[in-house]
Amino acid sequence: MVSASRAFAELGTTERPPDPQRVMGRAVVLGGSMAGLLAARVLSDHADEVLVVERDTIEPADAFTARPGVPQGGHVHALLNSGQLQLERWFPGFADEAVAAGAVVPHADLVQHYVNGTRRRYANDLTIRGRALSATRPFLEGLVRARLGQVPNVRILHGRASGIRMSGDRVTGVEYHPGDAPDGDAVTEPADLVVDATGRSSRLGDWLTGHGWPAPPMRRMPIKLTYATAVFRRDPAISDADTVFSQYLPGPGQVARIGGIVAVEDDRWLMLVAGYDDDRPARDRDDFATRCRRDFPAVFGDVAERAEMLGEVITYHQADSRRRDFHLLDRLPAGLVAAGDAIASFNPVYGQGMTSATLHASALSAYLHGAPRLDEPARDYFAAVRVVVDAAWQTSTTADLGLPHVDGPYPPGYRLIAGAANLIFMRRPTQAAQHAAEHGHHHARAPQLAGPAGRAAARRAGPPSPPPPGRLVTRTSGAAVKHRCLEVSCTTH
Ligand SMILES: Cc1cc2nc3c(=O)[nH]c(=O)nc-3n(C[C@H](O)[C@H](O)[C@H](O)COP(=O)(O)OP(=O)(O)OC[C@H]3O[C@@H](n4cnc5c(N)ncnc54)[C@H](O)[C@@H]3O)c2cc1C
Repeated sequence: MVSASRAFAELGTTERPPDPQRVMGRAVVLGGSMAGLLAARVLSDHADEVLVVERDTIEPADAFTARPGVPQGGHVHALLNSGQLQLERWFPGFADEAVAAGAVVPHADLVQHYVNGTRRRYANDLTIRGRALSATRPFLEGLVRARLGQVPNVRILHGRASGIRMSGDRVTGVEYHPGDAPDGDAVTEPADLVVDATGRSSRLGDWLTGHGWPAPPMRRMPIKLTYATAVFRRDPAISDADTVFSQYLPGPGQVARIGGIVAVEDDRWLMLVAGYDDDRPARDRDDFATRCRRDFPAVFGDVAERAEMLGEVITYHQADSRRRDFHLLDRLPAGLVAAGDAIASFNPVYGQGMTSATLHASALSAYLHGAPRLDEPARDYFAAVRVVVDAAWQTSTTADLGLPHVDGPYPPGYRLIAGAANLIFMRRPTQAAQHAAEHGHHHARAPQLAGPAGRAAARRAGPPSPPPPGRLVTRTSGAAVKHRCLEVSCTTH
């Protein structure tokens, strides 16, 4: 059996996709956002025809603006290195195109990272293999949609999916309501394979139970996170920063907070402040400016007070991280898979969602190239996706267990993982972060921390470096282990 690390590495391959291999007539993808668009690209190599059913109307004129079906779209969206490599794999030339259209490539000298208010310095370029792209979420999605639009056997339909059709042990199609009419007659589209990519509020579980099949078990970790974001005109007189990332770790007398400033297309900064539990930033300019000045390094207050704000402050509350464990289902119909947030959605501060969606696409490609029997459940696909979900889930939830208001569920091996993370980061925090960044597989690291490689890395890290003055953590306290885990994940963001 292939180990999880190996399977993960295979899914993250940067090799050109294998030659197309048609194994079905029609595939239907529900949801035309990151996961759905990428799944459609993969399916175009394996189906005569691919239909994508998307609820939002997306006219060419507003292809690059936030839309109702993706309410998180106006907030900072970091694209991790492995996600960028996957986009390049499915859409060759993607990074060049993004840069030509205005995406920013942050310069290493202009990237600032603060932990508990102290700036971290890195020996080398942290922008890792290739160029890091910095852009808004609608911009990235718009480029992916435009590239998919050039694939001849893919069509995007406007309508709201309302169910699946089944016959015997397999899904045979979907039902959807065309256009914006909520109550018009549903149309049925037959399909050899249906992909649910309708996001974290997916209703697939209800649809399955409606047909007498079990819904995938859902695991949740309550995180109670609130984002507030505002857009500003960039102004070099205020700051030359391309990217600023600030994290305050929870500790005695200190509240966990995350802030970011990201340079994006059209000469703008997106600025984000985020709080947990009842520390909820409001949709209010004054509250936003106060938080920037009071709770974050000076550059946040400078931008909030002096730069021109474009539009209003927007907020987003995410109650939990959640995953739907399809791989645990005893009974699963054939002709059905899910992808993206419809399978798992994590604390967004770790920036894993879009990258996970690209790796789900990679898993779909591997599954379809394995000449699967489409009249049997897609268990091999869900087994591969599980590796991606486990890795991202472990990173996200291990870190979030360090938050005072999060009291579980604790995963098996939590103490071991937390201990290895603590050892590495207490001793050589910047080198460890740099190593992770260079390898670019941000969310592959947590499982490895508990294994032999993680323990070896901890030993190699050598004697502890002295903690900076005023550090809140102590090496022996359980709370410190929790806090360190929070930093482990955030440091490579
Ligand atoms: C505040 C915030 C910040 C984030 N920051 C980052 C980040 O920095 N980096 C990162 O990688 N990820 C980030 N994420 C996560 C990222 O947004 C998601 O992981 C990603 O959008 C998942 O894509 P998806 O296609 O699975 O789902 P979604 O983007 O949620 O899209 C679902 C799609 O399905 C459509 N749909 C829904 N129901 C129906 C229906 N019945 N019929 C037809 N269509 C339907 C919707 O209109 C939508 O287009 C963040 C998330 C949040 C909340």
